[in-house]
Amino acid sequence: MLRSKNKNIVIGGGISGLCAAKTIQEMGQELLLLEQCPTLGGLTRTMEVGDFCFDYTGHFLHLSHYRTPAEIPFAGLNDDDWQQVSRRSCCFVAGKMIEAPIQYNIGQLPVGVYEEVVRSYKERPIFDESVPTTFLDFIIQGFGQYLADLFLIPQNEKTMAIPLERLSSKAVKRFFPPPVEELVRAGMIKNSSTAAEYNSTFWYPRIGGIGRLVNGLSTGLDGVHVRQPVTAIDLCAKTVQTKSGEIFPWDVLFPSMPLNTLCRISNDPDLRAAGEKLSHSSTISFNIGLNTPVKPEFEGIHWIYVPDRSIPFYRVGFYSNISKGTCTPGTSALYVEVGISSEDLLVPNIVRDLQPKVIAALEDLGWIDSRDISCLVVNIIEHAYVHFTEERDRLVEDILERLHRYCVHPIGRYGLWEYTGMEDALESSMATVREVLS
Ligand SMILES: Cc1cc2nc3c(=O)[nH]c(=O)nc-3n(C[C@H](O)[C@H](O)[C@H](O)COP(=O)(O)OP(=O)(O)OC[C@H]3O[C@@H](n4cnc5c(N)ncnc54)[C@H](O)[C@@H]3O)c2cc1C
Repeated sequence: MLRSKNKNIVIGGGISGLCAAKTIQEMGQELLLLEQCPTLGGLTRTMEVGDFCFDYTGHFLHLSHYRTPAEIPFAGLNDDDWQQVSRRSCCFVAGKMIEAPIQYNIGQLPVGVYEEVVRSYKERPIFDESVPTTFLDFIIQGFGQYLADLFLIPQNEKTMAIPLERLSSKAVKRFFPPPVEELVRAGMIKNSSTAAEYNSTFWYPRIGGIGRLVNGLSTGLDGVHVRQPVTAIDLCAKTVQTKSGEIFPWDVLFPSMPLNTLCRISNDPDLRAAGEKLSHSSTISFNIGLNTPVKPEFEGIHWIYVPDRSIPFYRVGFYSNISKGTCTPGTSALYVEVGISSEDLLVPNIVRDLQPKVIAALEDLGWIDSRDISCLVVNIIEHAYVHFTEERDRLVEDILERLHRYCVHPIGRYGLWEYTGMEDALESSMATVREVLS
């Protein structure tokens, strides 16, 4: 069945797709948005389970272009509904909670560990910015071998599910506090307060979760079709086909679906071959509702990084320490993230096998009592962190250049194969649409 022609098609109803769609609508152009899931929001969805409110996994709105949520275009947000939170995150190292980022808080480490970290920092190899290095070299040269082995290597390898020597130093994004000597040395002074302001505040709704942003972006949007997975893209005919067999022609296509998947379902063999070479990690997020408050030692902590390789998860966060509006008084809500390779995600029963290990590890640490669990929801993020391998830049550049020839303009974190946050997704998708359509 061939539908009548739509000028612009957006694939995906996450925040990139929604923001692109709003921009198209504002420009008075025709719009069709195809989303595979029954609900909009992608990774920024929020779900309510009984009295608990869980994000897909913890999602906090860091703003740098906009001063407050109300300034975000198209979302119609009211600042009174949002709270600005001063971030408090910790690294669980040597049995102790050290304020994050650890590289600027070395003085909080236990004495013996502290001495080793400082000695190894002084002996670190010279950092030469002119020589391209791997992410691994960057870390060792920047902070010394001891801190690298203690935290920076295992934490990042657990999160991104890849050996760091396979990543280029371009994997270092603004989310990674850099080896600024002044900040590292300031943090070596014992009992110093956190030396650096790194992502120091974020916004979160007073009631409910980050899905409030999605609600705002999707309100008043026409031409949205959910439960419409795009399964094939014919670049020459300029059509997309959905699972139901419907075919939609486009003049301009704005896909926010992952770039490797887009290449795979295209009818261009070169693109399919290039897409095969893009790699990424997956994250399994365990959202847990407890019928007790968080333990007193976690009061005020928003999330904890866990580098220990014998523990399955890389991060544990406490929604209820961020917003009381995520559960009822006397209860608590948390999320636990496990990073795995995209290949391991295909292992049969992976979630069923992981879940008891995650709960057992939380109990062994004394962080929860499993008898207090009132609900548990597992979310699988197939594409979590894209891998900035040595060849990533060239591959992505070639793929995008080829797609642009067919009026396909990918958007969003996964469409552009980037490591970016929600605000970037909004900004860049809006900019792409304006540039292409004006
Ligand atoms: C573990 C983790 C934690 C994060 N925490 C934060 C945070 O605290 N703060 C922050 O700013 N950012 C955070 N991010 C980043 C943030 O999630 C992204 O920047 C943002 O969600 C990207 O939105 P998007 O619309 O580009 O992609 P997505 O949210 O992935 O949306 C893509 C949409 O496309 C749909 N889709 C895919 N394939 C098809 C298809 N074939 N047909 C139709 N539809 C399809 C999907 O269902 C989805 O709805 C985090 C990311 C991860 C992985």
